[in-house]
Amino acid sequence: MNQNQKKGKTDPWLLMMDLDGTVWDHLDISSVRPPYHTAGPGKIQNQDGTVIAVFPEALEFIRWCRSNGAITCTLSWNHRDYVMEALEKLGIMELFDYHETEFSPAKDQRILHLLDVLRQKGTTLTPERIVYVDDRDIHMDDIRRNVGNILFLHIWKEVRNYEEAREIIRNRIIGE
Ligand SMILES: [Mg+2]
Repeated sequence: MNQNQKKGKTDPWLLMMDLDGTVWDHLDISSVRPPYHTAGPGKIQNQDGTVIAVFPEALEFIRWCRSNGAITCTLSWNHRDYVMEALEKLGIMELFDYHETEFSPAKDQRILHLLDVLRQKGTTLTPERIVYVDDRDIHMDDIRRNVGNILFLHIWKEVRNYEEAREIIRNRIIGE
């Protein structure tokens, strides 16, 4: 793959999204026991009254990425069934093509797994075509070592908000 192809607008790229504190406000959905019920637009609640609210700008961002060619995937260290129920009840399941959500901190291995799945379907992605959004950077040493030089967006920190995230993707991924 040459440099032009790498930045080509039509080349596939991958958006991996953390969930806790990144897509919704709660920092540990695995501590919120299902069942969940809708509690207004973008909100769910369990029987203990714990509310989980999505960040509307995060949803807008994911939709924007999809309309700009991204393959989308969750990358969350949580009970998978809790997350699936939350996505379902929030009505945002269709925002994601894949889920690499497991109760495991090994996010590097989850990314490698997805790359393998995509390769088997005929899509080979270099690390430079992978964007990972997370409110914490604790997985990045492993990811850099085992996946490579992906584009990490440390949301609410180095990257102040999703508008800034879009700007970076416009420059680094989508190209001119
Ligand atoms: Mg998080």
